[in-house]
Amino acid sequence: MSKKVLKCGQFFDSVNECVKENVWVVVEDNKISQVSENEVCCEGAEFIDLSGKFVMPGMVDAHMHLMMNGEPSAMGDMYTKRDADYMVDMMLNAQADLMAGFTTIRDEGCIGFVDISLRNAINAGKVWGPRMKVAGMGIGSTGGHGDNPLRPGTVMGGGMSQVVDSPDEARKAARHTIKYGADHIKLMATGGVMSMGDEPGAPDLTFEEMKAALDIANTHGKSSSAHAHGALGIKWAVKAGIASIEHGMMMDEECMDLMVEHGTFLVPTIIAAYRIVENGKYLPAETVRKATECLENHGRNLEMCRAKGVKIAFGTDTGTFFSAHGKQAYEFELMQKYGNFTVTESLVAATKSSAELLRMSNEIGSIEPGKYADIVAFDESPYDDISVMSRCSFVMKDGVVYKG
Ligand SMILES: [Zn+2]
Repeated sequence: MSKKVLKCGQFFDSVNECVKENVWVVVEDNKISQVSENEVCCEGAEFIDLSGKFVMPGMVDAHMHLMMNGEPSAMGDMYTKRDADYMVDMMLNAQADLMAGFTTIRDEGCIGFVDISLRNAINAGKVWGPRMKVAGMGIGSTGGHGDNPLRPGTVMGGGMSQVVDSPDEARKAARHTIKYGADHIKLMATGGVMSMGDEPGAPDLTFEEMKAALDIANTHGKSSSAHAHGALGIKWAVKAGIASIEHGMMMDEECMDLMVEHGTFLVPTIIAAYRIVENGKYLPAETVRKATECLENHGRNLEMCRAKGVKIAFGTDTGTFFSAHGKQAYEFELMQKYGNFTVTESLVAATKSSAELLRMSNEIGSIEPGKYADIVAFDESPYDDISVMSRCSFVMKDGVVYKG
């Protein structure tokens, strides 16, 4: 058995939502065995001195795409890259995320189920990387967010989603996704920003189609998420029983009330729209126009969501245009700027709340005995300077130190 003792100068307690000083953490193999505010005996253990650091649970990015790394060519690349090319890139992207402090990630849609293969390889210890929850290929409708606008007459498929146009087809796609090992199903409830020819405000799948897919997910014990911007699509998804609304940039108050009533999470992914607007001159005008509209609404909506008590998880949509893996912690700064989130709120979102969304509350999300030893640290406190979140200086996952 390997034993490590960590002395933490500042310690973020995500359960009680507070910062403590001089906390000792004992790690045995890949689990936390003891957390104490009194000095712990280090005999027979490796001592790790984090006394000058701000220590917190490994972070969760609950929305990202490993198959892309911010390249403006990402959509076109789907027609030329092979699954093997994707696997190599995805492994490197996942490792960049881990080194930035994201010890758990949720892949929100991937070409060819490659995310499932990578998750399995990491779990088997064949390659190193973060914990992964994966959606496999998403499910959307003809002409929607998941339907790549191929030349008319071209056989469908080849993109990162499955295209369905009835409840029966939605059921089949959900079964297909679960058959190949996805942890949850990803539904396209509205149009999107990067997809061409659809609108974020307009619904994609119908209520009946989403309900049919979610019935399959539920009976198989699987979770779910919905890409959704416009209010009507959000309402249908929430009423159908979706676990999380992704982006949610064009919602109205009724959406928020429904989400509170149903306990639905919002995963804001502010950085995705922000990077597109910021780099607009390199991107199609249609994409920039849609991202600008989304971002304008988002700040005001996020403030209202906070006030109403909508559950917030942390997610970034990393991989989308100009949003690179390992750089997504800028989202913490944007959460302050656009939603007025306090530091505590954003840290809780990235730990305890995201763990709940991923149904991993018993395993991750806090530094407590019995949980996986996923621990990260920073040289300064985010309470003094939130930008330190982009400069993670210590990463432990499963009791193994990867950085620092
Ligand atoms: Zn996404």
